[in-house]
Amino acid sequence: MTLDLQSIVDGIVSEAATAQDRGKVADYIPSLGCIDPAQFGIAIVTPDGSVHTGGDAAVPFSIQSVSKVFALTLALGKVGGDLWQRVGVEPSGSAFNSVVQLEAEKGIPRNPFINAGAIVVSDVVLGSGESRDAIGDILRFVRFVSGDGSVFIDSAVANSEADTGFRNVALANYMRAFGNMAHRVDDALKVYFHQCAIAMSCRQLAMAGRYLMMDGINPDTGRAVVTPVRARRILSLMLTCGHYDGSGEFAFRVGIPGKSGVGGGILAVVPGKASIAVWSPGLNARGNSKLGSEALERLAAATNWNVFTA
Ligand code: GLN
Repeated sequence: MTLDLQSIVDGIVSEAATAQDRGKVADYIPSLGCIDPAQFGIAIVTPDGSVHTGGDAAVPFSIQSVSKVFALTLALGKVGGDLWQRVGVEPSGSAFNSVVQLEAEKGIPRNPFINAGAIVVSDVVLGSGESRDAIGDILRFVRFVSGDGSVFIDSAVANSEADTGFRNVALANYMRAFGNMAHRVDDALKVYFHQCAIAMSCRQLAMAGRYLMMDGINPDTGRAVVTPVRARRILSLMLTCGHYDGSGEFAFRVGIPGKSGVGGGILAVVPGKASIAVWSPGLNARGNSKLGSEALERLAAATNWNVFTA
């Protein structure tokens, strides 16, 4: 049966338009607090290159923690499996910015998608260079995998977070005390805040997820970005850890590896079938896009896309 993806997308967009409860926009990063919660976008890219979009799919938004997928890909390219000596691969069951777990686990974050883990990943991407080189590497990589040189970093968002991101500063210092930071905390956080401030539209983000949909191959070049095993492992982490303490529920309801961000975006990848980006700025209690999660649940039901049935 061929799916009529455009009519599924259109149905999802009209349902989102009538939603009463749209969740709550993240305002702990001041420059995100003024985003209009009425927005909703969706984009689906399939392996044959077709793109289906709906709603505000062309509007750039702050991808925030979705960037952790791309930074992780780069860090694995730099140090390979050695990364796992500094970051775990277990779901945290805690909030994305939790501090308590780090003490019990001696400065080794549970996984690369909670903030502490992502800050270690930024520290690895820094390598032997300067913050601005690492920021450039991450931006170049995202432009490369999305096939779109217009992706940019919103420096107002990066600065807003640098001014107010005291929890992240605490996490980084705490890990430094355990010897799990190779660089100055300020340098690693500069990288982290800038990668989180990458702005992309749903269309660009869905395009950027293509290498994960295609066993690690960038369809623009036909060349491997990562090996098939690495693509599979990144997707595994997205499924188990991509929505923080809401990861179990997302897997239960949607069944597709996904990574959320507090800007309201989610990248979801169905291996061999689709790379999907949704965006709606209002968040649920766990800091994941409320309408975005609901849209993916509806899409998964309508398409039967998931990683558990053939
Ligand atoms: N930049 C955000 C922070 O560090 C990212 C969090 C998120 O998107 N879940 O708090």
